[in-house]
Amino acid sequence: MGKIKVMDEILANKIAAGEVVEKCSSVVKELVENAIDAESSEIKIELIDSGTKEIKVTDNGYGMDKDDAILAFGRHATSKIKSERDLFHINTLGFRGEALAAISSVSVIELITSTGNIGTIVNIKGGKIESVSNGDSRKGTIISVKNLFFNTPARLKHLNNLYTELAYVTEYINKLSLSHPEIKFTLTNNGSTIISTDGAGSLLKTIKNVYGIETVKKMIDVSASNEDYEVSGFISLPELNRSNKNHITILVNGRIVKNTYLNKIINDSYHSYKPDNRYPIVVLNIKCDPSLIDVNIHPTKMDIKFSKIEGLTLTIEKMIKDKITHINLIPKIEEVKSIAYNSNTEFVGLELFRETENIIVNNDFIANEEKETYFAEKTVVLEEKMEEIYPIGLVHGTYIIGQNELGMYLIDQHAAKERINYEFYLEKLGNPTNNSIDLLFPIIIELPINEYMLIKERLNILTDMNFKIEEFGINSFVVKGHPTWLPKNYEEEAIRKIIDIILEYGNNFSILKFNEQAATMMSCKLSIKANENITLKEMEILINDLRKCKNPFNCPHGRPTVISFTNMELEKLFKRSGFESLK
Ligand code: ADP
Ligand code: MG
Repeated sequence: MGKIKVMDEILANKIAAGEVVEKCSSVVKELVENAIDAESSEIKIELIDSGTKEIKVTDNGYGMDKDDAILAFGRHATSKIKSERDLFHINTLGFRGEALAAISSVSVIELITSTGNIGTIVNIKGGKIESVSNGDSRKGTIISVKNLFFNTPARLKHLNNLYTELAYVTEYINKLSLSHPEIKFTLTNNGSTIISTDGAGSLLKTIKNVYGIETVKKMIDVSASNEDYEVSGFISLPELNRSNKNHITILVNGRIVKNTYLNKIINDSYHSYKPDNRYPIVVLNIKCDPSLIDVNIHPTKMDIKFSKIEGLTLTIEKMIKDKITHINLIPKIEEVKSIAYNSNTEFVGLELFRETENIIVNNDFIANEEKETYFAEKTVVLEEKMEEIYPIGLVHGTYIIGQNELGMYLIDQHAAKERINYEFYLEKLGNPTNNSIDLLFPIIIELPINEYMLIKERLNILTDMNFKIEEFGINSFVVKGHPTWLPKNYEEEAIRKIIDIILEYGNNFSILKFNEQAATMMSCKLSIKANENITLKEMEILINDLRKCKNPFNCPHGRPTVISFTNMELEKLFKRSGFESLK
């Protein structure tokens, strides 16, 4: 007799559970997605011990009748996809029909559900149905998953500590609330509320529920489209940034996706407006024909493949760049509207900071307020982005003190000079001319063979920039001339750095990114170092040059060039007239 046997269904489900269910948050994800697919307007998630003891999801969706309630736990049981054609036109969150089968094979479940008629209660343990009985007729579904991994001890061991599990769940529900402002979400752990959104349909208000009022003040709306994709949402001002990427939420046709490439495009769009290793808070809705995307590449359905992604990335990049280059980035707070707001929320603004392995959950308690005032950043399009500032003096050879009728300013002269030089080089790199200088002593550059091959292939980048560079003996190049604008006295260093940058990109070379990086590198070289005394006249020239920049507010590394104190702030700091001056 042969050795091969078809495995029984419960075992197959247990194995599949390895893919779909890894931690409490994956169970929460599947259950809540089912509730959303069932068109619920209110979803409550109650955890006991971060979900390790119990995860209970209550929805008011369309529910299931008795037959479906039993069938739902079968492998590949789904009401959401019927034919192969549907696979390419998916508009529900679930479709694989695996989740309930997988989860039920590794836990103890009670399902209470009703379509509005006689309800059904199903009890199932380790994948085996233990009982089916009639329940009440409240329309909707309550599903409670207890003792996750009770029969797979190896997996149980792999659950993280309670704090980490809770952090994952919270992060996911945060994102889900942002993807569905029209659904009222409540998340509790051991009875205390962690997230509570109002389901009133406003994305901005949901952002407030999730991130708190301070964040909302610094979010600006964006939208753009091309023939295939429609993009809209909110992005943070560059000054509001976080140490990790978790606060970039991308939704495609309502589905939360994790796409590192799009995350990178979004972050790169802020280049030189904030430090590259700090990340913005972003909620972007991408809408497109379902046939343009493939969500079927992983069982968790988190990653996604786009057709025509180049068009999409260009649209996003342009949308963000246009927005942040057209707003006045010296923050001025202006009252835009007051909304009567009755909050049942016990606390809002749960922040998750995941830095390496440490997780800090920081709860801000906000008392119930009758009325809350919304502020928004003034997003005025200005011809001149920065006001005129008149220098008064210099502190420690580094910070220029300036003033105008609006207030007082501190300008970091090194950062300012870097910005000016950066834009100068970026312009030169983007518009190469034929002017070059011949070197009296040609520079020989010898490279390891793999790097030599790469540069040989990309030699046109250097010749296009007007470097006179040729192959020279084994694994070497000779540079005989260079463009006129190369930083004086740093020519050789600059050439070597430029070659390093090309090497760094390897096969993913992008001329725009290269130009940005090369300009950043050269601007550092030439900028005044800190502790250098300059005259008032030189300060004036520096400030005027800075004002002419496309982005006068940040150095190429994203640090601020100027800090302002409005007259009002000064008065407040010195407790001169308090809030009287607000009126
Ligand atoms: P999928 O969501 O991929 O279809 P699941 O295993 O998650 O697979 O669910 C199986 C089926 O059970 C769904 O297709 C749906 O018909 C039904 N179902 C699950 N949860 C709910 C719910 N909360 N409300 C109504 N129907 C549900
Ligand atoms: Mg599902």
